[in-house]
Amino acid sequence: METFEKLQKQYYKVMADKAGLVVCTCGNMFELVASKADPHQRDDKGKKLSKEASLNMGQCRVRCNVCEKNFCGKCHEYPYHIGYTCEEYRFYKTTMYDRNG
Ligand SMILES: [Zn+2]
Ligand SMILES: [Zn+2]
Repeated sequence: METFEKLQKQYYKVMADKAGLVVCTCGNMFELVASKADPHQRDDKGKKLSKEASLNMGQCRVRCNVCEKNFCGKCHEYPYHIGYTCEEYRFYKTTMYDRNG
C-alpha cells in the first residue's frame, strides 16, 4: 500500500516538473536554467561532444547548490551523462544491461 508520504513526494515532483523546477535527491528544489551550449565541451575521456550532446548538456545539466551534485534535470540521471543526450544515454544503458545479462 502506498503511504501518504510517498504520494505526497510524487505529487511534489510532478508539480515541480510542471513549474520547470528540479528536485535533487537531497530534497533541494531549484529552477532548471538552461545555459548556452559550449562548443568546446569535452567528455571525461577528452573526446569532443557531438552537437546534440553539448546542446543537451547546456539545457539539462544542473548542479545542486546544497549537495553539489551534477545531474540531469531532464531524465534525473546522476551523475550527468556527459557525452550523451538523454535518449542516447537511455539506449546506451539498455544495451549495456543486455550485454551483462
Ligand atoms: Zn542536492
Ligand atoms: Zn538526461
